[in-house]
Amino acid sequence: MSGDTTQEITNTPTPADVTMDTIVSLCKRRGFVFPSAEIYGGFGSTYDYGPLGVELLRNVRNLWWKSMVQLRDDVVGLEASILGPEKVYVASGHVANFSDPLVDCKSCKRRWRLDHLEEGHYEAEYGPTKRNPKGEIICPACGGELSEPRKFNLMFKTRVGVTEDSSSVAYLRPETAQGMFINYANVQTSTSRKLPFGIAQIGKSFRNEITPGNFVFRTREFEQMEMEFFVKPGTDDEWHDYWVKERYNWYLNLGITPDRLRLRPHAKDELSFYSKATSDVEYLFPWGWGELEGIANRTNYDLSQHAEHSGKDLSYFDEENKERIVPFVIEPAAGVTRTALTFLIDAYHEEVVNNEKRVVLRFHKDIAPVKIAVLPLSKKEALSSLSKEIARKLRPRWMTMYDETQAIGKRYRRQDEIGTPYCITVDFDSLEDNAVTIRERDSMTQVRVPIDDLVRVMSEKLDG
Ligand code: ATP
Repeated sequence: MSGDTTQEITNTPTPADVTMDTIVSLCKRRGFVFPSAEIYGGFGSTYDYGPLGVELLRNVRNLWWKSMVQLRDDVVGLEASILGPEKVYVASGHVANFSDPLVDCKSCKRRWRLDHLEEGHYEAEYGPTKRNPKGEIICPACGGELSEPRKFNLMFKTRVGVTEDSSSVAYLRPETAQGMFINYANVQTSTSRKLPFGIAQIGKSFRNEITPGNFVFRTREFEQMEMEFFVKPGTDDEWHDYWVKERYNWYLNLGITPDRLRLRPHAKDELSFYSKATSDVEYLFPWGWGELEGIANRTNYDLSQHAEHSGKDLSYFDEENKERIVPFVIEPAAGVTRTALTFLIDAYHEEVVNNEKRVVLRFHKDIAPVKIAVLPLSKKEALSSLSKEIARKLRPRWMTMYDETQAIGKRYRRQDEIGTPYCITVDFDSLEDNAVTIRERDSMTQVRVPIDDLVRVMSEKLDG
C-alpha cells in the first residue's frame, strides 16, 4: 500500500463514438433494456431488463462479487432488507441531510438540481448554463426565472402496518450501506473477524431523483454494489488509497478503454458531511464525464451514530493496544446498472466490412451476455441435430445460444451486435470430419476444431 492516489489520473480522452439514441435503440431492439410499463405508456425513468440485459447484469454482479468477496479472505457478504425503520435513517443522517437543492422554473415549471446547474451538467442538452443580467442562473430550457432553492429529500417514504394508528414510517433504502453498519456487530461476532475486514452487499436502492435521465445512468430504482471495509483509525488513509487503486483497476481489467476512465478526488467543499476523503472513478460518457463509483473514507461516523441512537456498543477491542476503538470505514460504492450501461457504451463499435456496416459490441469475454452461438449452416435435420447436441454439451459451462434462421452471414452479424465472442459453425463437412469452425468476433478469423476437443478449446478461450 502506498499513499499516492490522491493524484488525479486523467488520460487524453477519446469519447465513445456513439450516441445515446443508438444505444437505447439497440437495447430495445435486441432485448437488453425495455422502458418499464411500456404498454401503458411507460413509467418515467424506470426500466426493465430483457433476456440479454439480465445476463449482462448477472455478469457485472458476479465479477464484482468474485473480486470483492470470493478471491479475498478479508471480506464477507450480506443481504439486508430493503425496507428500513425510520430510526435507522434518522441515525444515519439521511432524514435530515439526504437532499438535493431543488429549484423550479416559474414559467415552464420544470425542476432542476441547483448544484447540477452550477456544475454545467445539462450542457450537452441545453448548452452552457445561462444567467440573467443580475447574474442569477435561469431555466436552461425556457430562460424563465427560477425559484429559491429548497431541500428536497430523496428518500421514498412509506408506512408499514395494517391500520393508520398502528403503522409506522419506513423508508426504502437509498443506499445498501446502512445494512452493513447496523449488522456490523452481528457479522463481526458470528465470524470472529479481526480488523481490517469488510462486508459486501449487492442490491436495489431507491432515490426520488429530481432529474433522472441519460437512460439507465440515473434512475429512481437502481442497483448498487457496496463494500464497507472496517479498519483501525490511523490506517484509514492507506486503505483508502488501496481501495481507490483496486477499484480503478477492476474497470481496466474488464476492458474499459483507459483514456475514457479517470480518477477524480473530491475537493474539500464537495465532500459529503461524513467523508474525510472521496475519489470518484469517472467514465467519459457521450454527454461528458460521469461518476461510476465513489470510494469514500466515511471515518467512524456511521458506527458512532448507530451506537448513539441504538444504545448498543459498536466498539471493537483492539488486542494489540488493549483499548476499545470505533473502526473507521472505507467504502467503495458502485452502481450495477450504471456499470452495465458503461460496458455497453464502451463496447459499441461500428466498422465497414465488405462494404457493409458491421455493428459489434466488443465486450470483454467475462462481460458478454452470451459466450457462444452454435450455428448450423443449414436447417437440414442431420446438421441441426448435431448442432443441438453440441449446444447441449456447452450449456452447462457457458451461456450458449442456438440459431438456425437466416443466412450464416446475417447470423454472424446478429451475434456481433450482441457481443457474442465465439460462433461455432456446423457445416456438411462436420458430418464427415467430426470438426466444426470457431469464428472469433473481433478479428472474424476462423479455426477448425475437432468436436471432441471443443469443450477443452472453449475452456482455454473463455475461462482464462
Ligand atoms: P451522483 O452524484 O451521480 O448522484 P452519488 O455520488 O449520489 O451519485 P453514491 O451515493 O456515491 O452516488 O452511490 C454510489 C453509486 O451508486 C454511484 O457511483 C452510482 O454508480 C450508483 N448510483 C447512485 N445513484 C444512482 C441512480 N440514481 N441511478 C443509478 N445509479 C446510481
